Amino acid sequence: MILSEQKPFEEITGFLGAEKSIFILGCNGCAQSSGSGGPKQVAEMKDKLTAAGKKVTGTKVIDFLCEKALVKSGLRGKIDQVAAADSVLVMTCGIGVQAVAASINKVCHPACDTINLGGSRGEWKGSERCKECGQCLLDFTGGVCPITACTKSLVSGACGGANKGKCEVSPDRDCGWELIYDRLKAKGQLDKLKVFIKPLDHKKLMPDPKLMSTSRFALESLDREVKVK
Ligand code: SF4
Ligand code: SF4
Repeated sequence: MILSEQKPFEEITGFLGAEKSIFILGCNGCAQSSGSGGPKQVAEMKDKLTAAGKKVTGTKVIDFLCEKALVKSGLRGKIDQVAAADSVLVMTCGIGVQAVAASINKVCHPACDTINLGGSRGEWKGSERCKECGQCLLDFTGGVCPITACTKSLVSGACGGANKGKCEVSPDRDCGWELIYDRLKAKGQLDKLKVFIKPLDHKKLMPDPKLMSTSRFALESLDREVKVK
């Protein structure tokens, strides 16, 4: 299961900026189990955004947002509500946000940070990848993860070495930052490239101390080793 946690509400409203109408997408898979984006959290988010003066055009909770086919079929009855929104707030892990951003021609904002990929992953067969950085940057990159799409995991723009759209390190791979540019352009969001993304906070790459106080982590840290000769 992929563990995610909701971003602070102020960070989410910062992403939404001046947008007035929002469609909210939740996930009945890992995000529901994590308590970050299931039906309860989607209903709560709708209330909070409404109280903050936003119009919520509709909501939908889909079984696995990491599965693009399920995203597309799940939204079939909601096209008008999505079309009426300025953007879509996606309440799930980084893989799910990437899958949604690749599936609909709409600005997508992440509502969660992915903190752990867990023991087994969700129903995910797509090409999206997440490195559980704990500070999801997808709002700035059109829903393409810079940490996994860029071979050097650059978060502040291209290295300048790409050749004909291919990465200088791995010519068999598309340049992640060209993918980001193309996606932002398609969604009318090129101004996002002007946002300075701070270097990653590497503390967040490690498990949260609260998580490390659980019994699982206690077992993990028992002072025992298997002796091998
Ligand atoms: S920025 Fe990438 S690695 Fe970090 S949480 Fe988002 S999808 Fe995962
Ligand atoms: S060429 Fe593109 S994908 Fe490759 S390291 Fe540079 S910015 Fe990243």
